[in-house]
Amino acid sequence: MPDKRIYFDHAATTAIDSEVLRTYNALLEQYYNSDALYDEGVAVYRMQEKARTLIKQLLGLSNSDIIFTSGASEANSLAIKGLALAGFKRRHIITSLYEHASVYNAVKQLADVLGYEVTYLKPHKDGKIYPEDVLAALKDDTLLVSIMHVNNEIGAINDIDTIGRIVKKYSGAYFHSDITQSLGKIAVPLDNVDMASFSAHKIHGVKGSGALIKRRHIKLEPLISGGQQEYGMRGGTSNAPANIVLAKTLRLAITNEKENYEKVSILNEYMLEEMSKLKVEINSFPDGIKHLINFSTPVKSEVMLNYFNLRGIMVSSRSTCGSRENEPSRVLSCLDIDDERAIRLSLGGENTLAESRYFMEILKEALEKYG
Ligand code: PMP
Repeated sequence: MPDKRIYFDHAATTAIDSEVLRTYNALLEQYYNSDALYDEGVAVYRMQEKARTLIKQLLGLSNSDIIFTSGASEANSLAIKGLALAGFKRRHIITSLYEHASVYNAVKQLADVLGYEVTYLKPHKDGKIYPEDVLAALKDDTLLVSIMHVNNEIGAINDIDTIGRIVKKYSGAYFHSDITQSLGKIAVPLDNVDMASFSAHKIHGVKGSGALIKRRHIKLEPLISGGQQEYGMRGGTSNAPANIVLAKTLRLAITNEKENYEKVSILNEYMLEEMSKLKVEINSFPDGIKHLINFSTPVKSEVMLNYFNLRGIMVSSRSTCGSRENEPSRVLSCLDIDDERAIRLSLGGENTLAESRYFMEILKEALEKYG
């Protein structure tokens, strides 16, 4: 047994960076309302606006606004439902079958409650949503296309640049992308994306923090009614400490991106090579994100996860949001993967080769015992 438990569930959440934590703690003492007109409030307001500007610079955005939210789920809801409530006549939405629940269920709600027509695109055998499928699904009536950049269960990377270009060229629809699993891991091409959502806790930030990036001209109806915070699109006293530290979180994530990618690639290659010698089937894709390996064994994942846990390893079988559901994973089902035997191993820059070796040892042990 290792001295320390080993974390291989970075797609679910990440440890807070020590520098982020230090800054966040200091900011918590600046408790003033960012909308207050006395000096202390104005100082917090200015720091928050500076953070907004820095986030835009880090992402190379010019004509966009950053709307601070409680995370990616809220950002996704705001993009999708906020647009639908904004008075457009168009009533058709295109999305995919393997979006995160916060996109999938927001779109479903619009279909169920408001009668929107939805086209759900199915990923191909390589795990990707094809731009030509988006093109074929576009209608005069399409209001929104929402396709994620990197899938959180299978790690496939979608070409959101081409999809966005097609949406812009061939329709009057808006293109939204959930970039929660790609930001800070790989380059995110945002030039042809109208709205994008991300979360701080996936990039070593604080929980309950994230943002929606939105082209300035897009008007959304707020889902949280209130004051004029966040351009009038999200009411409520600003969570200024979290919003301010998000800029630092993102700066650190982007600064460390290349180094982490290289580290994770080495572990990924080693583990795939070792897995090829075992009774293991790889579900993730060679051109997918290196940070995620999805694989199946002949043993039920429940049994495997339990064994890993007992041996000091934290790993998941699917998206954590669905981990307490009894329904099969929507993501894995649409790729014809048996959800009962799949394991999602998600790596981070902190993982080491020694940890990966230990993981392989325990995997072999479990297969010998149960396989
Ligand atoms: N989108 C994706 C792709 C995710 O992986 C997650 C986190 N599971 C979310 C959205 C939701 O993020 P948050 O926890 O910040 O609401």
